[in-house]
Amino acid sequence: MKKFLSVAILAGALVAACGGGAASTAPSQAAASQAAASVDPASQAAASAVASQATAGGLIGIAMPTKSSARWIADGDNLVASLKGMGYDTDLQFAEDDIPTQVSQIENMITKGAKVLVIAAIDGTTLTDTLQKAADGGIKVLAYDRLIRNSKNVDYYTTFDNFKVGVLQATSIVQSLGLDAGKTGPFNLELFAGSPDDNNAGFFFNGAMSILQPYIDKGVLVVQSKQTKFPEQIGTLRWDGATAQARMDNILSTFYSDKRVDAVLSPYDGISRGIIASLKAVGYYSADKPGPVVSGQDAELPSVKSILAGEQTSTVFKDTRLLAKSAATMVDQMLKGGTVDVNDTKTYDNGVKVVPSHLLDMVLVTKDNVQKELVDSGYYTADQLK
Ligand code: BGC
Repeated sequence: MKKFLSVAILAGALVAACGGGAASTAPSQAAASQAAASVDPASQAAASAVASQATAGGLIGIAMPTKSSARWIADGDNLVASLKGMGYDTDLQFAEDDIPTQVSQIENMITKGAKVLVIAAIDGTTLTDTLQKAADGGIKVLAYDRLIRNSKNVDYYTTFDNFKVGVLQATSIVQSLGLDAGKTGPFNLELFAGSPDDNNAGFFFNGAMSILQPYIDKGVLVVQSKQTKFPEQIGTLRWDGATAQARMDNILSTFYSDKRVDAVLSPYDGISRGIIASLKAVGYYSADKPGPVVSGQDAELPSVKSILAGEQTSTVFKDTRLLAKSAATMVDQMLKGGTVDVNDTKTYDNGVKVVPSHLLDMVLVTKDNVQKELVDSGYYTADQLK
């Protein structure tokens, strides 16, 4: 009776958290997703507690790359909440950007009898053998955010429109320098890209260059270092901020002793912060030497604060709550044998096959729309940004 009561109370809490509807011990998919989407600890706890009473749908393995970036922690938590809300058990692992660790974590999930593996790969090219083992055991695979390459055993992919992320990063540079309003500079630009082993890095860079290259060709933007080649010159292994900082130090001392850098294409907030630290060390962000335009991605808290402080110019906000929800829905559809919700069957060729994908949209965030996109949407509280 006591147990029944506590379940009933939790179910009530879930319904309250989700804004109404009839009480139920097995939350609807929409309610569970909504609870996950709200990233509200109370509703998530309620969703998990109620879900543990539901018929177990089986184990879902979730392999995330690292805890060093807040987005992957949020991705993992949101996936667990959504999947538990649908009646699945979960095994969530982070590999601290170490490839052998991720491989052994995934192999463990296979041994434990996972029905689906949701994988955000560290190195998208090194999972071929592991995924063959999964396929041999009848386990399905959903590539999460990052495409897994060189394997026929990738069933589906969910991510954001990665080319568009790059387009938005470059658009922020074009608008902030006034190139769209006819300014001709010339302006000095330096280029940074992401980890060469992450399939997304090339998409971001190509998207950005689709906008920037015409200005480089016209001489409006000048890359003084002449370092323009991805991955060999501008890739940043493991998206590491310190690696980017060291490269920026080098660029500034070699090519800018008598010049000013006006813009830096950065693919990710952690890299942007490394670049900004390097610029600060040689006197930028002062009255006589303002900081250049610096792009970013992920709306990480320290970078949003940097944007509000007038340092980093922009970030690309990808609502990871929606990505987790999309992934959980696809897992459920894969297991129930229904139609899986994809909206792109052309773009993501992994070297062996085109992986059917579900792509989500994103927004460019500058100091002008932080409130609307990040606070009003509940992604951060106003207090977190103080
Ligand atoms: C993700 C980005 C992230 C980067 C570094 C990429 O695969 O799509 O959101 O900034 O990895 O973690």
